[in-house]
Amino acid sequence: MARQRQRTAESRPTRIVSPAAKIRWNRTYKITRKGLTPEKFQVLLEAQGHACAMGREPFEDGQRIFIDHDHSCCPGDKSCGKCVRGLLCLTCNIAVGYIEAYFDLAMVYLNAIARPVPKAGRAF
Ligand SMILES: [Zn+2]
Ligand SMILES: [Zn+2]
Repeated sequence: MARQRQRTAESRPTRIVSPAAKIRWNRTYKITRKGLTPEKFQVLLEAQGHACAMGREPFEDGQRIFIDHDHSCCPGDKSCGKCVRGLLCLTCNIAVGYIEAYFDLAMVYLNAIARPVPKAGRAF
């Protein structure tokens, strides 16, 4: 019979910050918890070229972005907004937390590995 045509609305992703986008972004990225406004968030995003501040990999549409801040200024999840360091992907957000906490130990560990192994006394 009559062929049913499914219409797919062409919804192109837009970079314009609409009021709806503001609410959605704030829910997703906790913008106000980090002391930012959607406008400041957008400025940061533009400044970083829509890429992770640490790993530099471009953010994909719909990817979760994490607002990293200096915990020595604002301990916990909230930030005053002045100590926001950058926007990170999930991996880098976790990584930077570990690096901050374990930097010295990590360096000791890595240096120990990097140290040339003496030729004498081959274990294998
Ligand atoms: Zn990253
Ligand atoms: Zn702060």
